[in-house]
Amino acid sequence: MIPYGRQIIDEEDIKAVTDVLTSDWLTTGPMVATFEEAFAQFVGAPYAVSLSSGTAALHSAMYAIGIGPGDEVIVPSMTFAATANAVVYQGGTPIFADVHAESLLLDVTSVAAKITPQTKAIICMDYAGQACDYESLRDIARSYKLLLVADSCHSLGGDYRGQAIGSLADLTAFSFHPVKHITSGEGGMVSSDHEHYATKIRQFRNHGIVSDHHQRQEEGTWHYEMQNLGYNYRLTDIQCALANSQLKKLPKWLQRRRQIASFYDAAFEGMTTLRPLSCSVQGGHAYHLYVVRLNLKRLEGGQLRVFNGMRGQGVGVNVHYIPVHLHPYYKKNYGTRPGDCPVAEQAYGEILSLPMSAALTDEELGFVSQTLVDIVGQADTHVDLTS
Ligand SMILES: *Cc1c(COP(=O)(O)O)cnc(C)c1O
Repeated sequence: MIPYGRQIIDEEDIKAVTDVLTSDWLTTGPMVATFEEAFAQFVGAPYAVSLSSGTAALHSAMYAIGIGPGDEVIVPSMTFAATANAVVYQGGTPIFADVHAESLLLDVTSVAAKITPQTKAIICMDYAGQACDYESLRDIARSYKLLLVADSCHSLGGDYRGQAIGSLADLTAFSFHPVKHITSGEGGMVSSDHEHYATKIRQFRNHGIVSDHHQRQEEGTWHYEMQNLGYNYRLTDIQCALANSQLKKLPKWLQRRRQIASFYDAAFEGMTTLRPLSCSVQGGHAYHLYVVRLNLKRLEGGQLRVFNGMRGQGVGVNVHYIPVHLHPYYKKNYGTRPGDCPVAEQAYGEILSLPMSAALTDEELGFVSQTLVDIVGQADTHVDLTS
């Protein structure tokens, strides 16, 4: 099966990891700061704090901005469940907003309609790797005194009007899961322009303790204080070494992802049975995903037939995402229901993610696009277009 996403690990990565394995520090050693500094520089933010996952990064961001019981946070419905779960971890209430039909990015009009006196923040998500409409989101956040947090787990290396993803919101969360742009096995990062958020997150990832073992060693003391409840959300030196080595290859990999997207775009041009999601000209797309939208009026058997047809040919297509407000957990505990976010719900029945990763070979790429054209092409002729 050609997977929808896949990592690349080379000899340099392996050496970076084995060097740490034979060093003095396996966790919270010099590689943490090395990776954080390199990452901060890459995304153009003054502060970057590593966490044990993208989910931990989102949770930490909710903690840092002080989300708690009674607070509402507006989140897109078309995202991975972790975006909303992060709000719940802090006792807040996620409020689901709808997305734009063409880009599946958070719809600012829908956000505006969901703001109440309890709203504290908005989490936007750069779906598929394309930047959200940050200008409008920042405007609305400013006028209602809300904080803006970006779930940028899809968009590392992308930009919005020339500004790198990573300092466009108050806090930005990234993931280093193997399907993402770079990997540390599991891992995440929060970047920010604000030192006080970075400080809070550094404590939060280490049980809420206000000094780390290096500081205690320097000060010659065993004394430490836990001032708030935190977690063990640390990223290890082993993982930071891997991610730091991966980061060096990111520009090259982004180029490959964009090349793959252009190939797909050209292969599907002019088709009536499907179309790629629209791309705005607002910035560089990071292409975590390449998503096509099926035209169900012209496709017999619909999305499931295409999904099974592709899987049957060894192409690991996927659907990103089941709208989060439709998950039983949210229906049961937050009273969400079908109809809450109609655009996301309709899109869910029509989208397919095709294989997209820097590891995809030209041969695989040709096979994937030809297989899809064959499957949806056949269907086109079976449908009675007069009806
Ligand atoms: C991957 C992802 C996450 C979670 O990241 P993990 O590192 O797997 O915890 C959160 N949000 C979105 C949009 C993601 O794609």
